[in-house]
Amino acid sequence: MSDIRIPVFKPYIAADTMEAAFDALRLGWLGMGSYVKEFEQAIATQLGLDQRERQVVAVNTGTSALHLALLVAGVGPGDEVITPALNNIGDFQAIRMVGADPAFCDVEEATLGIDVNKAAELVSPRTKAIIAVDYDGVPCDWDAVHDLAQRRGLRVIHDAAHSFGSRHEGRPIGAFGDVVVFSFDPVKTLTCIDGGALVVSAGDDVERLHRYRLLGMDQKAERMYANARAWTYDVADCGFRYHLANLHAAIGLSQLRRLNEFVVTRRKACRLYNRLLAGCPGLITPQTDFDDVAAFAYYLRVRDGRRERLIAGLRERGIDSGIHWIPGHRFSFFRDCRRGDLSTIDRVADELLTLPLHSFMPPETVAQVADAVRECLTAAAQPAPADFAAVGAGA
Ligand SMILES: *Cc1c(COP(=O)(O)O)cnc(C)c1O
Repeated sequence: MSDIRIPVFKPYIAADTMEAAFDALRLGWLGMGSYVKEFEQAIATQLGLDQRERQVVAVNTGTSALHLALLVAGVGPGDEVITPALNNIGDFQAIRMVGADPAFCDVEEATLGIDVNKAAELVSPRTKAIIAVDYDGVPCDWDAVHDLAQRRGLRVIHDAAHSFGSRHEGRPIGAFGDVVVFSFDPVKTLTCIDGGALVVSAGDDVERLHRYRLLGMDQKAERMYANARAWTYDVADCGFRYHLANLHAAIGLSQLRRLNEFVVTRRKACRLYNRLLAGCPGLITPQTDFDDVAAFAYYLRVRDGRRERLIAGLRERGIDSGIHWIPGHRFSFFRDCRRGDLSTIDRVADELLTLPLHSFMPPETVAQVADAVRECLTAAAQPAPADFAAVGAGA
């Protein structure tokens, strides 16, 4: 581990983020407070929300945001939620937290987003909602997802943990849809160290989320946003300790001011990867030019069973890589969940490899990684000595 020189993720923490953290610590109100309000407002502005219609509620992780999203959507014991088997564990566990089960769906090969036709076949009388995800920041087919949901009376939870800053048909991800969820965990494009947020309709859902994140208390959010609290209150609902702390919101705010730089420099790195790796034998690069994409990661598909050797070869050269993800139906805890045809995921999951992608990643570093990938794959493609005769004979 210690000789890894290029990590797969590298959060961008500069002096401004350090200062923001100091400021929040100096304020001394460490729990939910003014920075959380400011962070929610800044996200709403970033997404261009009309807050009479849609509002942002910040929480402490993306997984808690997913849990609360399912509660708000009315998903409960005995229900099923359709989600791609190629998704984060947090999604699967959040479904279980409300007493429901995931129903595993396949993805489309081009985007690795949910295959909506296959999702339609999976809908059962138990199905309450669909969770779809924008793999690596590339929006999935949201029009088709919402269309299916509307026809079958389902709620849609948009896991946008990878796509904060992306656009779909010109609109920021988060500005449309049913319930949208973001994560600001340590490796996400924008980090609060740990943090998350939901975007929901203004009104009742916001009130419920305010209670859910604070142990069910009917503390007025406005009072807490002024760095104060009440000592008399009712517990009016179920609840969890899911609020975002001022420190984390302050860090998130400092990161948000740089979001555009993060998105632009990541986009440049992804385009450079695409260019440098084009035509490399045995590789499939992402089928996008990253135009409207705020890339969370850069992924490859490594064909012909050569992924493990590439991982080892990169590691020898001090370059880390990652796997996103092990599909849900391969975990023992989720093995018995209902599933449709998962042939695309079963083929692609063993090929996927995440390469290093950082905000402000220098082009030389991208080139160094791309060169290493080519080198490893060319070395691996050399036929073993015993094969030479066969190749010669066949030619
Ligand atoms: C990171 C992530 C989550 C979970 O978010 P946390 O903040 O780590 O709890 C959920 N879904 C996806 C797609 C993610 O990438």
